[in-house]
Amino acid sequence: MAESDCVRRFLLDDRPIRGQVVRLQASWAALLEHTDYPAPIQVLLGEAAVASVLLAATLKFEGALTLQLQGSGRVALLVAQCTHDFRVRAMAQFDATSSASGFRELVGDGNVTVTIEADDRKSRYQGVVPLVGESLAASLEEYFDRSEQIPTVVRLTASRDVLAGVLVQRLPLAGGLIGSAVGSSQRLDDGSLDDTLLDELWHTTSAAVHALPQDILLSPSMAAVVTAVMAGEDTRLFGEQPIRFECRCAPDRVAALLRGLGESEVRDILAEEGAVTVTCEFCHRPYAFDSIEVERLFASAEMVPGSDTLN
Ligand SMILES: [Zn+2]
Repeated sequence: MAESDCVRRFLLDDRPIRGQVVRLQASWAALLEHTDYPAPIQVLLGEAAVASVLLAATLKFEGALTLQLQGSGRVALLVAQCTHDFRVRAMAQFDATSSASGFRELVGDGNVTVTIEADDRKSRYQGVVPLVGESLAASLEEYFDRSEQIPTVVRLTASRDVLAGVLVQRLPLAGGLIGSAVGSSQRLDDGSLDDTLLDELWHTTSAAVHALPQDILLSPSMAAVVTAVMAGEDTRLFGEQPIRFECRCAPDRVAALLRGLGESEVRDILAEEGAVTVTCEFCHRPYAFDSIEVERLFASAEMVPGSDTLN
């Protein structure tokens, strides 16, 4: 059976290696439905959407993970966001007059920023690394290496119809993230961990991820992807966690955004245009405020907690 719009985790029972495989089809179509990105930007957007799912799947958290690319190339800003329950959205701001298409031409010099924000807003983490190499995947490997010191290999692919990706990590041993999940089986029979064997296994695994044929990565069988990258190892593949496209914009968030803009500014726009319309950059849904709604917006301003953003 074809697997789609889900992420599946996998791990080795007796080695500190784990990963995620992801495939999006209907959610990708939904994400693109109201957009009109040029093909190369659509590919980059798709890869970033996959990456945001893979990154979110490495975490235990309740909130949203935001992957942001900012650069000097054709794409000035690209944002992909995934929540802990795998609701995904993404948007890009780009130069419509440029025809640049390669990764470096698209992004130029710039940074990848990963922000993890808890729903209760009590905790927030942010890591920034420069864009490196010739792919978004290479920049993500750099991110894990620098920000988290976790050796990581990543593959991402995007076509018009399907997005797919795989991420594999070698976890730290002592007191590491995997401790409770794997426990004593991290160690070999003689009680010591053989670093050389682990190094070899990691080398083989990361080479297999990088060499994974595109058709297998895009194939509807996630087990086939996992088998190809973890060849010869007893790998445990966990169940499907569904992914869907869903924007998090809402009328009250737009209202808060307009209040943040200031009453005189909003009234100026109202006078000029007859209504104030804000279009969500992620889903392109328009939010229109007529004169009555603008009155209400500022009449109730004192009763509403401080300014918010559309995000
Ligand atoms: Zn929206």
